[in-house]
Amino acid sequence: MSTLLQIPARLWQSPGHLALLLILSLLGLVLLGHEGRRSLQMLALGLPSLLWLLWPLRQRHWIMLRAWLAGLTLFSFACDALVRAFLLRQYQAAPDGALVITASANTTPREVVEYLSSLGLGLLPSLALLLPALLLLPLVLRRHALLSMASTASPLMTRRAGRWLLLSVLLLCLLGYLSKPWRRHHPLLFWPSWVMQIGELRQSWRDQQAQRELLLANAHAAKPVVQLNGPSTVVLVLTDSVNRDNMSLYGYERATTPKLQALKTELGPQLLQLRHAWSVEPGTLASLSGIFSFGERAPHDPVGNTQHLLALARTAGYKIWWMSNHDDLAVDQQHAQLAHEQEMINRQPGRASASLDSELISGLRRALEDASTQRKFIVVHLLGAHPHYRLRSPQLPDRDHVFEHAKDEVYQQMQIQDRPLWLRELRQDYDAALHYHDGVVAETLRLTRGLAAPRGHAAWMFLSDHGQEVGHSITHAGHSPSTQAGYRIPALLWRQTPSFDQAAAERPFRADWAAWTLAELLGLQWQGRDAERDVLSPRYAWQAPSLGAATPERFDR
Ligand SMILES: [Zn+2]
Repeated sequence: MSTLLQIPARLWQSPGHLALLLILSLLGLVLLGHEGRRSLQMLALGLPSLLWLLWPLRQRHWIMLRAWLAGLTLFSFACDALVRAFLLRQYQAAPDGALVITASANTTPREVVEYLSSLGLGLLPSLALLLPALLLLPLVLRRHALLSMASTASPLMTRRAGRWLLLSVLLLCLLGYLSKPWRRHHPLLFWPSWVMQIGELRQSWRDQQAQRELLLANAHAAKPVVQLNGPSTVVLVLTDSVNRDNMSLYGYERATTPKLQALKTELGPQLLQLRHAWSVEPGTLASLSGIFSFGERAPHDPVGNTQHLLALARTAGYKIWWMSNHDDLAVDQQHAQLAHEQEMINRQPGRASASLDSELISGLRRALEDASTQRKFIVVHLLGAHPHYRLRSPQLPDRDHVFEHAKDEVYQQMQIQDRPLWLRELRQDYDAALHYHDGVVAETLRLTRGLAAPRGHAAWMFLSDHGQEVGHSITHAGHSPSTQAGYRIPALLWRQTPSFDQAAAERPFRADWAAWTLAELLGLQWQGRDAERDVLSPRYAWQAPSLGAATPERFDR
């Protein structure tokens, strides 16, 4: 018993032990608020001010500064960890996800108080953890400062090797501060910028709401009508970062799209594969603006006299769904909010998000089965093959993905082109993502045929917002404004009846004109319809877009 009591007593006598206690607390907090690789990054950001506590100091003002810095660090990491752990448990969401940002920007201070009181007792365990720790922190730091002033050096630091070790760990951690994507997660930088983000969002809402009202007014003025008899269902599957050159459906050597190929054989002339499809933008936001504005608008252009496909379809009597695996406020505000129903399954922003596209399938099924309307327009926004490629297909601990060690023709070709090993491996990951994506896209078509077609007119369109360079023409992986791979996209159409004129398959197609074709599938007629931009129309008149440095000599190959 007496030895047990000696532990806190010895702890209280040694500045080194107190510092270790604080470092362990930081470790606990980081693990509470963050997962995986991010927790290592957070540790690197938090450690330097605590490691400094191990260094022998004499001057009073340095010792005081050090104690304040350590206190501030631990306090900010504690608040950060608790908020994050809470959001993760309650909503499976991150604080900078669209869900939380949107909700916070939408909430008044009075609602915050109501919300906290509604949680009531549920918060008690967290507070019971937090309060004693926060009360103890100043005591521990004060004790540490007093011992330091009495120059009770930690035994570790009296040795040369100990000092070198400390210095190298410190330097390693400080490297984390050089990287902006790391640095911005430090609670003292993250939360002020979070508050600013909410302010900016509120401002842009005031503008976006007005823009949507203008778009709906423009749609009303054009008097759109649906020229189809009976029920009609149109599904638009919009994917991300898929380069058609990596789909075996388009002739790629790796079998990345077996399911779509089987559907093509099965469906014959009901399916139209546009062989020469291009996006005219290399990024999501600009590409989506073009697609939905009939090629008239960039993301921040004024509305003017332009139309939005969703506003037109809505005005003509379609019920509109927008279901998405993206966490993107701008897409949400510029497009999704024009729908009647929104279903956002991804609550973590950015590239590291691992939410799988297949999770949208059940939402699509519900929308197709919805009996409240005869006219449905359903937009399914997939993450597709957006970087990081490995996160776009399921991570199986006991099994490699389908092309993990493929030393096939594609691999050898890349070797001949001198593409480095990391790029050849990324290509394997990318192709595995497309292989998984193939199943999801085929399933959306299967569901549309099974659930919508028996009830009347049904159509489906699939396209990617832009392409992706994965060592196709340069040593680079990612979005690519300067190479053709950044713009080479797949585009597929399916319609119950009438079947497609297959001559259209060889016409070059540009994504920013897709709305003219979707309008045809929706049976929309309005003042201002232009058949010359609808790839299905006999009057189609191709005009080559400029893709900057990536503009090809010919668009039909
Ligand atoms: Zn994109």
